[in-house]
Amino acid sequence: MIVILEQGISDHNLENVIKHLEDYGFIVNKSVGEERVILGAIGVQPNFDTRKIKILEGVKDVFRITEPFKLASRSYKKENTVIKIKDVEIGGKEINVIAGPCSVESEEQIFNIAQIVNKSGVKILRGGAFKPRSSPYAFQGLGEEGLKYLRKAADHFGMLVITEVLENSMIDLVYKYTDIFQIGARNMQNYSLLKELGSVKKPIMLKRGFSATVEDWLMSAEYILANGNSEVFLCERGIRTFETYTRNTFDISSIPVVHKKSHLPVFADPSHATGLRDKVLPMARAAVAAGADGIMVEVHYDPEKALSDGPQALLPDQFAEMMRQIKLIAEIIGRYIH
Ligand code: PEP
Ligand code: MN
Repeated sequence: MIVILEQGISDHNLENVIKHLEDYGFIVNKSVGEERVILGAIGVQPNFDTRKIKILEGVKDVFRITEPFKLASRSYKKENTVIKIKDVEIGGKEINVIAGPCSVESEEQIFNIAQIVNKSGVKILRGGAFKPRSSPYAFQGLGEEGLKYLRKAADHFGMLVITEVLENSMIDLVYKYTDIFQIGARNMQNYSLLKELGSVKKPIMLKRGFSATVEDWLMSAEYILANGNSEVFLCERGIRTFETYTRNTFDISSIPVVHKKSHLPVFADPSHATGLRDKVLPMARAAVAAGADGIMVEVHYDPEKALSDGPQALLPDQFAEMMRQIKLIAEIIGRYIH
């Protein structure tokens, strides 16, 4: 941590700052410049609250030089995390595609969509059975019935299942049907859910919250890791900004930022990020080019009648075209899509 002191700080205040830092367990290095004094406080304390120093008399600013997250950080683990689930590897050279409808709507609907996406080589089927809707009047999902249809369709085509878990009390139920737990944007900072999923023996995909910084997001991943589950990967799904022409603003730069700061794989979800079908393909291309370890997209054969997120669902032909194009991009950057 670097502590910048006010110009002309009194000896008394300077000694007081140094004493506080030492009492908090830091080793203090003083460097005296022509204009001001700077203190280097050495000692890794990931959860140290820098405001404790910022409020002292004579302190101009305080900067952290170590990350507040540890297990999620690249400095803790240099090599990329690779998560193996049956014959699927997440975070390796292969870029995985997760596809399926926003919500499971019926046995027939999820079966048909599973067939469509499987034809293009998709190995992970998505579909929400419990939906976190912004409106309490919107379709909330089929519940366990939806989980059963999702599992059945995935098993038929030899695919894995990913589905969202909304609350602690549903973990055991969702566990029976899913291969990967999804934590949605609205739950990214549901710390009791994060902690409990830390003790579950299945991988977790953690989506970014609407207004979460990359640091907030990695701190949420840290909760799961610190509670014992090391199989975590992230998913950028867009953040809220002042822009209104898209549903969210797709923060593609978070992909290389996460890769630099963390060893965890990061996926991208251009469907929720843009909210508009015609923007999904260009953003999927961009995400792969930016280094995403996977893509998650929503697909529907009759989006007009979809019970949720129809306007952002790719039609079957558009999905096949997206797969064709992102395969080419993957090759250029030395990766591949099955
Ligand atoms: C979803 O994947 O269907 C979903 C609800 O996403 P998010 O949590 O990113 O809004
Ligand atoms: Mn959706």
